Amino acid sequence: MYPADSGDASLAAAPPPAAQGATVPHILEQDGHLGAWLERQGQPAWRARAIRRWLFERRAATFADMTDLPKDLRTGLDRDFRIWTTSIARHSKADDGTEKLLLALHDGQRIECVLLRDGDRRTVCISSQVGCAMGCVFCASGLDGVIRNLTTGEILEQLLRLQQLLPATERLSHIVVMGMGEPLANLDRLLPALAVAQDPEGLGISQRRITVSTVGLPAAIDRLAAENPGYHLAVSLHAAEDQLRTRLVPVNKSIGLVEVMAAADRYWEASGRRLTFEYVLLGGVNDSPEDAGRLARLLGRRAALVNVIPYNSVAGLEWREPSKGSQERFLDVLRQAGVNVQVRRRKGARIDAACGQLRRLERQA
Ligand code: SAH
Repeated sequence: MYPADSGDASLAAAPPPAAQGATVPHILEQDGHLGAWLERQGQPAWRARAIRRWLFERRAATFADMTDLPKDLRTGLDRDFRIWTTSIARHSKADDGTEKLLLALHDGQRIECVLLRDGDRRTVCISSQVGCAMGCVFCASGLDGVIRNLTTGEILEQLLRLQQLLPATERLSHIVVMGMGEPLANLDRLLPALAVAQDPEGLGISQRRITVSTVGLPAAIDRLAAENPGYHLAVSLHAAEDQLRTRLVPVNKSIGLVEVMAAADRYWEASGRRLTFEYVLLGGVNDSPEDAGRLARLLGRRAALVNVIPYNSVAGLEWREPSKGSQERFLDVLRQAGVNVQVRRRKGARIDAACGQLRRLERQA
């Protein structure tokens, strides 16, 4: 029912616009298309770098904005490429500075991405797939399964769309891949996008400030450890014993906590950096002091941070938010056991900033 561990192969991204004949290639696809085009135009290869700088650093919204490129080059680019393949279907702003975009993709699918403001931080939360195949029972993103992988260009476009919301004096500082989808099931397209995000000639966001959140797919975690252990990994646990975890995170059935923790440990060895474990607190389901005790024992002496996320209610689902009291008791047990724990503050709740929620609302409307 769920895709194999590493996911990638079984689920293709939509054909890039280039392959669809009538549509124009996306300049953000990292597929070598631009390099080949420049060569055909008799343009030096370094123009690709100049164009990239315009897109990422100088925030050009059109090719016409790229004023130091020769006029005929700008006209050619405008004819043969497009910068934006999405349109903004909805833009919501919360009082706390959180902004959320619902983006319509070229094939009519919709995804969400969010800009969070916290002190100096300008964190963006981006999606990796349309829908999700993991089936977590409390999450709005996967209620209708997965529709397709996002392309590298679509992942990058979210970053540029969100960057456009900032004044010129501010930069994006952190990326969390915690929007819609399971990022480790789309590594083939995600990794090239994150490479551009961290490139000094791209967005220049250091790897340490890029967090990839996963349901815990061991083979894909191992691949990330082998190829790129610099990213901060967050593993979504939500339960510390298999029966409950399989109920909440159905993909756990064929994996199991022993394998998830072993893969997390291997990633930690490869990266040398503290891991984060996420735990959504569902009232009356996984929020008892016993659950907290089990979680503390599961983590043992690992150098880990536990990110406790009070359930954000999803219309149509019967799960409850944890009471203040049970939340406090849960945190106390963990702290007394010496576990590093933080509660993820809820931002943008009023604009349905939790993953998948806005897209669902739109579809129900
Ligand atoms: N597929 C990735 C990214 C999911 S979104 C993963 O599983 O980690 C990031 C986090 O938000 C995950 O821990 C996810 O379980 C959690 N989440 C999903 N729906 C939620 C909800 N309604 N309330 C609180 N957290 C939620």
